[in-house]
This record gives sequence, structure tokens and C-alpha cells, in this order.
Amino acid sequence: MKQPNRDIPENRKTLYYVGMGLIILGIILFLSVFFSSFGAMTNFGQPPSMLPGLIGFVLIMIGTALRTIGARGLAGSGVILDPQKAKHDLEPYARAAGGLLKDVIEETDDNKTDDNQPQVKLRCRNCQSLNDETANYCQNCGQPL
Ligand SMILES: [Zn+2]
Repeated sequence: MKQPNRDIPENRKTLYYVGMGLIILGIILFLSVFFSSFGAMTNFGQPPSMLPGLIGFVLIMIGTALRTIGARGLAGSGVILDPQKAKHDLEPYARAAGGLLKDVIEETDDNKTDDNQPQVKLRCRNCQSLNDETANYCQNCGQPL
């Protein structure tokens, strides 16, 4: 029997690291413009070209996108609209994030109410007993809530 692969595939890991590299490169380019423009202001020299900063900004954007796709998969990051595939793609990511995201997705999918969750209660103004949030009348004394 074939074991389902629940780890992030190698190509997605590569994408993640390529994205991270692009972000670092983009930040360096971005900062280089910042420092050169600062130098230009003090030296009254030629205004520096904003092109490296623009390229840096674009690199950061691309890098962020690649990193998201790498971590969550194409469906998981919303590039492909396929909820089932998204759930599968997000599984390793969700485990890495402490399973929070997975829980949210499962809860949304099942659309069920969890009995363990604290419920909002209404306190009756007449007898101070606690009633369900949805109740219109007090269970204890029958006063409208
Ligand atoms: Zn009451």
C-alpha cells in the first residue's frame, strides 16, 4: 500500500528557498537606494536612480509570492481554486504552524458546532439565571430576555 506523502515536496521546498533568496536580494537593492539617496542629499550630487529600488521592490513581491506558493502549494495559496487540493497542499504547512490552519479549514468544511467551545450566555435581568444566547425567554422565570 502506498503511503500518502504528507511532507512538502522537494520542488516546493526549492521554490520556498528561491523566494527567500529573491526577498533578501530585493531588500539589499532596496536598502542600497536608501543609502545612496541619503548620500546624495548630503552631498548635493546627482539624484540617484530609483531603478534598483524598483527592481528590489519587485523582487520582494515575487519572492513573497514564491515563498507562499512553496509553503502552501498552488491550490493552498489560492493560485488554483480547488478546495480539496488546497486542503491537501496546506496539510504540511498547517502541521508546521501548529495545526491551527488545518483546524480552521476542517471546521469550515464540516460547519459543525463544537460543544467544548465556550458559549455566550445571557443573564436574566429578573432572576440572574444564565440562558442560551439564542433564547428569547428566561428558562427559569419566563421573562423576555
Ligand atoms: Zn429569569
